[in-house]
Amino acid sequence: MPSASATVFSPASPEAVFRHLAVAEAWPVWMRLSVARARRATAGTPDPNGVGAVRAIFPVKEKVVAYEPSTHYAYVMIGFTPIRNYRADVRLTPKNGGTEIEYAASGEGPGAGAVLRFATRTLAKLLAGHASRCKPGCPAH
Ligand SMILES: [Zn+2]
Repeated sequence: MPSASATVFSPASPEAVFRHLAVAEAWPVWMRLSVARARRATAGTPDPNGVGAVRAIFPVKEKVVAYEPSTHYAYVMIGFTPIRNYRADVRLTPKNGGTEIEYAASGEGPGAGAVLRFATRTLAKLLAGHASRCKPGCPAH
């Protein structure tokens, strides 16, 4: 199965970066999708943002499959999926007072390799950049 990963550094703490992954409403903010709305469609157990939680970012639904604050977060796409069997794993490591973010993803379908390379690079960069400049009012607070 095609896969790709991107590693970036953010001066933000692993806890701050992780909150941006955990809170569904924060996704369109750090992804800079000003028109998109995201919400938690299904709560996980025992943590409502944890394993089993489903995040709806129209038209995509993503289910949390790994939730280890503030080190590892993983999700799969469900329902309508441009890439089949899409799974993303985000690993956070404390480094130099900030966080090393490794964004890895795998999936199948036409052009999946290129899509995964673009997606992991873009998501890692946007997440790292936003977390380091995050302001009060962000849903991740
Ligand atoms: Zn934020």
